[in-house]
Amino acid sequence: MGRGWPSGRVRGIPAELRPYTAASANHIRFQKHATRNRIRAQSIWLVYTALGRHPISCQSGTSDLSVLKNFMATQTNTTNLKTPLQNLEEWEDFLKERYPEVPEKTGAFNPGKKKEEFRNYEATARPTVREFYRLNHRYQTFDFVQSKKREFLSLDRRKMGIWEAMEFLNTLVDDSDPDTDFSQLEHLLQTAEQIRKDRHPRWFILTGLIHDLGKILCLFGEPQWAVVGDTFPVGCAWSEQIVFHGFFADNPDSREPRYQTRLGVYEEGRGLDQVQISWGHDEYLYQVVKDYLPEEARYMVRYHSFYPAHREGAYTYLMNDGDKAMFKWVRAFNPYDLYTKSHERPNVSELRPFYEELIAEYFPAQLRW
Ligand code: FE
Ligand code: FE
Repeated sequence: MGRGWPSGRVRGIPAELRPYTAASANHIRFQKHATRNRIRAQSIWLVYTALGRHPISCQSGTSDLSVLKNFMATQTNTTNLKTPLQNLEEWEDFLKERYPEVPEKTGAFNPGKKKEEFRNYEATARPTVREFYRLNHRYQTFDFVQSKKREFLSLDRRKMGIWEAMEFLNTLVDDSDPDTDFSQLEHLLQTAEQIRKDRHPRWFILTGLIHDLGKILCLFGEPQWAVVGDTFPVGCAWSEQIVFHGFFADNPDSREPRYQTRLGVYEEGRGLDQVQISWGHDEYLYQVVKDYLPEEARYMVRYHSFYPAHREGAYTYLMNDGDKAMFKWVRAFNPYDLYTKSHERPNVSELRPFYEELIAEYFPAQLRW
């Protein structure tokens, strides 16, 4: 085993690490991508042994120190942070299984999926994906959303331009295979390029370029289930159209009667702006960019993971007429998000000048993150 490993016998591997590890009497190691995982295993083990419990960082995988810092920082306001997914794409791959590509891009909306259909997807989901949804549905409570908003929406962590944020997001290291998987920056460029090829307006192209920048939450130490995942309203009954609905039984809000009626703490048709949605990269980025984009683009950013609404047609009773009109655009955006990944690798340096100009058309040189 390499230098710096905790000495002494390995007394057992936390259940959460088992899918990634192999162990003999004295050693623990990760199965794949040896160097990167050695660092991660070391970090995790260090914190685990120091605190006597299992630490969870998102997959920033940088150094022992940063993982430790992230872990300590999150301990005060979240409960049990984990990285069930090997990489964030596992969630997106699961979305693609649930929503296979349709021939013409406008046919993406297929409301009213049957209960059995959901059960089929749930039954065939990978264990990592299942665990991810279990945590997401368990911990995304009404209070959790408020606390994350207080924590992040002061936007005082960094000042960065859009391209700089793209490069920052690209430092997210996970178990993706660099030879076959696209990087975060490539996903953004591919999405934007496909929108551009279909001759959509410039703001639409720009939205494709930026839509996932909120995933930098991972680099601030946030757990996967508080960054990605299908989003849903909190503070009212969970729609049956949310995948893995059964996992909500463990959410403390299930024992709050005021959150368990159809409308919960909201009023019929008052509009989504009044509604608290589960916390993740959509809402965070929306708050960063909302002053600079047209309304259609703001909806795309803010609700692109709100699959229960934009793909299943749920929660229309919380929407006002403006929301209903704008969801047309959220639906128009979704195929570009889901189905552009298989195309060829974009040439970043060739594309950069076009996109720098487009960014400058809408955004100041620096934004608060
Ligand atoms: Fe996204
Ligand atoms: Fe995306």
